[in-house]
Amino acid sequence: MVEWTARVDNAPPSSPLLLSGLLLDDARSAPSAGWIEIDRGRITRRGSGSPPGRSAAGGPERIIAPGFIDAHVHLPQFPAIGCDAGSLLTWLEQTIFPVEATWADPAEAARAAARGLRRLAGSGTTGFAGFLTSHRHAVEACRNALATLPLRAIAGQAAMDRAAPTDLLGQPVLRPLPAPEPRFEASVNPRFAVACSASLLSSLGGLAGLTGALVHTHLAEQRDECALVARLFPEATSYTDVYDRAGLLGPRTLVAHALHLGPAEWALLAARGVMIAHCPTANLFLESGIFDLAAARRHRIPVLLGSDIAAGADPAMPRVARAMLDSAHARRAMGDAHAHVPTAADAWEMITRTNAHLLGWHDHGRLRPGDAADVLVIRPPGPVDPFLVSRLIYGWEDALLDAVVIDGRLVSPA
Ligand SMILES: [Zn+2]
Repeated sequence: MVEWTARVDNAPPSSPLLLSGLLLDDARSAPSAGWIEIDRGRITRRGSGSPPGRSAAGGPERIIAPGFIDAHVHLPQFPAIGCDAGSLLTWLEQTIFPVEATWADPAEAARAAARGLRRLAGSGTTGFAGFLTSHRHAVEACRNALATLPLRAIAGQAAMDRAAPTDLLGQPVLRPLPAPEPRFEASVNPRFAVACSASLLSSLGGLAGLTGALVHTHLAEQRDECALVARLFPEATSYTDVYDRAGLLGPRTLVAHALHLGPAEWALLAARGVMIAHCPTANLFLESGIFDLAAARRHRIPVLLGSDIAAGADPAMPRVARAMLDSAHARRAMGDAHAHVPTAADAWEMITRTNAHLLGWHDHGRLRPGDAADVLVIRPPGPVDPFLVSRLIYGWEDALLDAVVIDGRLVSPA
């Protein structure tokens, strides 16, 4: 894939920025003609009709929408996109760990983090939650890259103490987390139970409990992984119980996948208020399974949507949303009469407002005065009619992006 390049104007704009077009801030309603004013990283005014001055981007034929949020992405794994290597455990060993090992050099880690952010921004993603590598400087590399291209982020050092090459192990992970910043928070990221001893998991649970940081991990992605976890943790009643015993499950916990769960595990996740990151492209690429959206709904478990780069091959969140719809249709087509198939509007809401709100970013998704100025200017892929949102999801190309505004800064294709 060609890397999208971006020009970021780091100088604070001398005057407020006006964007005009069809304001699409509620996918369940028709967009309305209007404008927003942006100043110092915030939406400061919003109006209907023609803008009160010259627009920096947009126009009557353009859509103005909140930026996309990716709830589960591995920033270091972009170079591994499309590199298939069998099951999850083999793929990690043969494809992923060699790529993550390149972050051992702090300068290369910084360059790779910057490239990853550009790939995300190039697909309209303005905020993400995700994993870095296990290196102690990984968080610093990410923060430095964010200083240039300021996506909103919650990211953490991948914590592991076994089942990986030695050069990825032995990194201190139980250190104080950097204090949260307006657009960056460090999270606690146990990679998954296979790669973490019980004592490391407990320590990470303690660290998260002390700091209130987001716990972000993987759960029950593949059947052989689940069988291995059962052997590694014979005292636990289930994979989910492994994390619960370590104090890792709560309302600020986000687990990716959750494909192979027993009834008691669904109930435990619900009782703890845990959130699930559904990653449909990754689940198909690694043949892990098709997520049971209906079960999550039944248990009232919040579901976010993630690209899971590089198990997922596509950073564009509208195409991840499309994969969720395709997977849900497939589940029903294969005989699951209770399968839940979201609407296109539901899917668009998930990749904008819902993902943001569940990550704690309540000032995103509605283009209101006071909201964060993370905004997209989009060329509609067809007529602006009641199928607009569906057309955007099924016909998405990054080339539809006229402009991306991140933290109030206009980022434009070079
Ligand atoms: Zn993942």
